[in-house]
Amino acid sequence: MAERIWLSTPTMHGEEQEYVKEAFDTNWVAPLGKNVDEFEKGIAQYVGCKAAAAMTAGTHALHMAVKLAGVGEGDIVLCSDMTFAATVNPVTYENGVQVFVESERETWNIDPKALEIAFEKYKGKVKAVVLAHLYGTPAKLDEICDLCEKYGVILIEDAAESLAATYKGRQTGSFGKYNAVSFNGNKIITTSGGGMFLSDDEEAVKKVRFYSTQARDAAPHYQHSEIGYNYRMSNVVAGIGRGQLLHLDEHKELKKAIYMRYKKGFEGLPVTMNPYLDCSEPNFWLSCFTVDEDAVNRVNPEKIRLALADENIEARPIWKPMHMQPLYADRDFVTAGDNVGEDIFERGLCLPSDIKMTEEQQEWVIGIIRGLF
Ligand SMILES: *Cc1c(COP(=O)(O)O)cnc(C)c1O
Repeated sequence: MAERIWLSTPTMHGEEQEYVKEAFDTNWVAPLGKNVDEFEKGIAQYVGCKAAAAMTAGTHALHMAVKLAGVGEGDIVLCSDMTFAATVNPVTYENGVQVFVESERETWNIDPKALEIAFEKYKGKVKAVVLAHLYGTPAKLDEICDLCEKYGVILIEDAAESLAATYKGRQTGSFGKYNAVSFNGNKIITTSGGGMFLSDDEEAVKKVRFYSTQARDAAPHYQHSEIGYNYRMSNVVAGIGRGQLLHLDEHKELKKAIYMRYKKGFEGLPVTMNPYLDCSEPNFWLSCFTVDEDAVNRVNPEKIRLALADENIEARPIWKPMHMQPLYADRDFVTAGDNVGEDIFERGLCLPSDIKMTEEQQEWVIGIIRGLF
């Protein structure tokens, strides 16, 4: 059988190992050191935030963001609905209550119209908004930022999937008061596992460092007045990140080329690639499509997924919306009328978007899909 074609896997270049070796050679095999410092500086500079704190996971960066936003018992947090559970789970860690906000069709992210309805419905009770940029496509940031400002609510950006994507020339992960990125194994750059908290508020970043190193008070003995966490990134892992950061733009270009080849390759088929706004530049982390309504009864996404799986090719259903998850069955879901998330979930598919996939391999994937229609 042919070599497996993956959705998205790590791509290493060599510099990563040199930074890791440096950590070993200098004996900084600890959750602090030069690699951590430099990786934080590098990501903060790239994204355009004043400061950053490297974490053991993107989920942990989001947890810190929710904590810093002051979310507590019973507080409402308006959240992306079509996203990965890690976007919204940290709200529960802090005893907040998620309210899921419907997606729109132009970016698949939070619909500003539904967001406004949710703000009105929960007036005075909303502590934060957690906004994901699904598959690396920037949301309608102007409208969403304006609404957050109008209602005086903190915006948290989950840029886990969208590192290097821009909206009107500005990086995602720089719009929120608190922001998170991820370096999990499948993301556009990876440290095997890891994440980063980003903010222009340097005091907030200091607090995150405090909470993520067990909240130790200033005393010679171990003294604690607050609950802490062990969330700091290892200096070994940060070495991988420093090496990867050198190749972030290149990864984005390769991802974009994959998206464009799919777009061209599917011309004439009743499918539509995941859309984005003209004023934005996605990082094209995952290429996806939806099968058009008039064809989906004939060729549904599951049929395509299974046909690809037969050829050892990985595809994946669209992330199942949070309001459809058993875990969140008791949470409210606010929509502006249309069932966008459910519809995209039913008609959509994530396609192999691994940057090591050759053009020939991708042509083969396209050919298999064409053959089904
Ligand atoms: C991957 C991901 C996360 C979590 O990041 P980890 O580093 O895996 O903890 C959060 N949100 C979204 C949208 C993600 O895709």
